Amino acid sequence: MAAIHVLSRHLVNKIAAGEVIERPASVVKELVENALDAGATRIDVTIEDGGKRLIAVSDDGSGMSGEDLALAFTPHATSKLADEDDLFAIATMGFRGEALASVASVSHAHIRTRRREDDGGHEIAASDDHIEPIRPCPSGAGTTVTIRDLFFNTPARRKFMRTANTEIGHISEQLTRLALPHPQVAFTLTHNGRQTQNLPAAASTAQRAADLLGRELAETLLPIRPRGGGTVQVAGLVAPPTAARGSAKWQYFFLNGRYVRDRVLAHALREAYRGLMDPSRYPVAMVFLRVDPGDVDVNVHPTKIEVRFRDSQAVYGELLAALKETLNKANLTPNLELDAREGDRPSDADEQRRASLREAMADFFKSAPPTQPRFNFGEPPGRHADVGDELTAPHATAPPSLAAFRARPTPPHRDEPPAPGGEWASGESVTSCTPASGCGTHESEQAFVPAIPAVQIHNSYIAAACPEGLIIVDQHALHERLIYNDLRRRLADGESTALTSQRLLIPETLTVTAAEAAALEQCAGLLARLGIEVAPFGPATVAVQRFPALLAGRGTAPDEFLRGVLDTLADDETADGERLLEDLLEMMACKAAVKAGDPLTAEEIDSLLARRQQAEKGSSCPHGRPTTLKLTLRDLEKQFKRT
Ligand code: ADP
Ligand code: MG
Repeated sequence: MAAIHVLSRHLVNKIAAGEVIERPASVVKELVENALDAGATRIDVTIEDGGKRLIAVSDDGSGMSGEDLALAFTPHATSKLADEDDLFAIATMGFRGEALASVASVSHAHIRTRRREDDGGHEIAASDDHIEPIRPCPSGAGTTVTIRDLFFNTPARRKFMRTANTEIGHISEQLTRLALPHPQVAFTLTHNGRQTQNLPAAASTAQRAADLLGRELAETLLPIRPRGGGTVQVAGLVAPPTAARGSAKWQYFFLNGRYVRDRVLAHALREAYRGLMDPSRYPVAMVFLRVDPGDVDVNVHPTKIEVRFRDSQAVYGELLAALKETLNKANLTPNLELDAREGDRPSDADEQRRASLREAMADFFKSAPPTQPRFNFGEPPGRHADVGDELTAPHATAPPSLAAFRARPTPPHRDEPPAPGGEWASGESVTSCTPASGCGTHESEQAFVPAIPAVQIHNSYIAAACPEGLIIVDQHALHERLIYNDLRRRLADGESTALTSQRLLIPETLTVTAAEAAALEQCAGLLARLGIEVAPFGPATVAVQRFPALLAGRGTAPDEFLRGVLDTLADDETADGERLLEDLLEMMACKAAVKAGDPLTAEEIDSLLARRQQAEKGSSCPHGRPTTLKLTLRDLEKQFKRT
């Protein structure tokens, strides 16, 4: 082996460049971060050939004095870090003094800059291992850094670059990560002479998100509810479960303004949406965390994309709590997607009319005593002879009394407080203008909703009026959610067996493999809590001795259910107890719930709808499928071309 020698400065830079500068997008990141650190209010990024030929970043920030500029390309020269204490409380994006030196070592680099207070500007060029002296030159206030021929002297890296399209994709994504936490800064991106992005300075993150992600998605975003106190502050925007995507690309986490990738944060997000959506999809989220800079180490990774929290449990807990609260308080019932071509946005006059109507309604509720029946419909419109019998599927049992219908509270919108004075349904029924009342003036755009009874459709769905229009409930999905929540609650309350179980007179036997028998034995305690008791019964056979009444009552065969349990156990081999419990509860809820095709009595319908309002995550079943769809009056008006 050759003798030890110290690497040349040039080689050290090139090695460092390898860590920090992976592709053109990395250069854009470093240069834009510098511009942000310099207090820029507008940043223009110009790219040619995916960044292989040219990357230029121009800003209107502080600029540099000639003295500072002379040092800009020198390794470990920075204006952002003075001593070791600063390292543990970093507030700027950069701090290593490494980026410009690294980029210059693998390209032809050039900076032109002028401080606002200076008369003239300066320029400097650097390439490979050579830094030229600074020269005076005319310049606008601010800084322009130009990088040409990236990786010209590192052929391995140069070959590694992809097509211009791929590289510009990475650059654009990088810019999104930088632009989201800085809405007040204007950005443009120009590729091969064509402007591909134009983000004007925005008043809020929501506005910036709309410019970046499109208005349609942005309109659905829910602001994360701020929670008081604590050392961790969470803000941001999350999309409802229905807007989830097929990849995690739409999840953005920012820590003290810096984009980060972190498993703890991603896990908290996933956990918050659990049971609200298909678990194979990814919720859309933009999460902004603030923690004391001293409580986080950003100096773990050269590009600072990974961080280390001093107390990651606290961060996890706070994020999860904030997200859960946001989702719980939100109305997550998806709107029925009707033909989108019909839908232009409502006119201002339309909106005004609605607003005054809402006001009038609110006034009315205030003035009317809530307990007295204020209006008598006679026959509820849903049952009106000429409304069409197909809407009112016959109930299997005795037809409910009319009184039951009138007493029925129709569920209020989850995130709307009930109308003053009680359930909105009683208030909704106050108009004298309904088809049933026959006043003949209901053409006149009245938005009042009569308290029509909920009806079961094809023994599978329940349709009911709501303040904004109509909801359609999948009876199985909703019942499944309610049973699941109930089981969960009972388990949490520590009832030793969460479920009443029955001893089977004749135990049901089942043939099992040795591995299955072992797995059953391992989770015997868990099964017992759920009211299932299984015992060995001869060679390769087990017997179900006790079985939950809930399931037996629904005609579920014990052996068939146990087969399902065994399959779950096989799938869950590596999973923890909590996950297994979750799966078993989902299975039980599914088996015990009413099915599509089961006729329901009016009382059962009532009870389902009433419990829906109180149910946590009531908008989706435990598997994450929706329980309820909403058809708004606006949608109806569009479809009937009344607008
Ligand atoms: P770091 O950002 O880690 O300090 P860099 O190599 O990226 O290291 O930049 C070195 C120094 O050059 C910075 O500390 C800053 O003083 C100066 N600088 C770089 N870019 C700009 C800019 N766009 N505007 C003003 N000063 C800049
Ligand atoms: Mg920097």
